[in-house]
Amino acid sequence: MTKTIVNEVEKCKKCDLWCQRNKPVAGSGALSADVVFIGEAPGRNEDLQGLPFVGSAGKILDTLLLQIGTSRNEVYITNIVKCRPPKNQAPKTKEIEACGSYLDKQIQIIKPKIIVTLGRHSTKYVLSKVGLKVTNISAVRGKVHHVHMFGRNFTIIPMYHPAASLYNPKYKDSIQKDFQTLKHELVKLKI
Ligand code: URA
Ligand code: SF4
Repeated sequence: MTKTIVNEVEKCKKCDLWCQRNKPVAGSGALSADVVFIGEAPGRNEDLQGLPFVGSAGKILDTLLLQIGTSRNEVYITNIVKCRPPKNQAPKTKEIEACGSYLDKQIQIIKPKIIVTLGRHSTKYVLSKVGLKVTNISAVRGKVHHVHMFGRNFTIIPMYHPAASLYNPKYKDSIQKDFQTLKHELVKLKI
């Protein structure tokens, strides 16, 4: 990249989140990945390590990846917002608007076949790129969206955020089901 993106993010002051960050989290994984996962924002552990999904939500993500026969080295993992919001608040609209261009660039560089959006914020952002307005993630999660953006075709599969299953076990079944949908799409695309 994405060295350039990593450098840009390290210097970035485009929104107020730069003031309190320890390390910005650009993303990690394979630049040749066919699947990109987009979470919400770095949490405490991510901010300290400069890596995405290394805390408790990350453990869940690792397990889910393992269950469908892949791992974080074979995919690319990032977030909609690259710096940690204070007190783990949800990212604000203006922060998402300020940071979104990094994600757009990452998608254009990696050119994945499949994009998995984890949680309401990344789902809303990515689907807005193709003119879809998301008011409720429950209505779109687990659905396979075939879209055209940045001059290419992508399959987008929105899912609940893995951290949701930490707070409410009823989300766990949905997330597991949606990972099976992802596996099915990977097979279909011969990935
Ligand atoms: N939750 C996220 O959305 N992203 C991370 O990187 C970690 C937790
Ligand atoms: Fe820049 Fe994004 Fe960090 Fe805001 S969150 S300072 S836009 S890198």
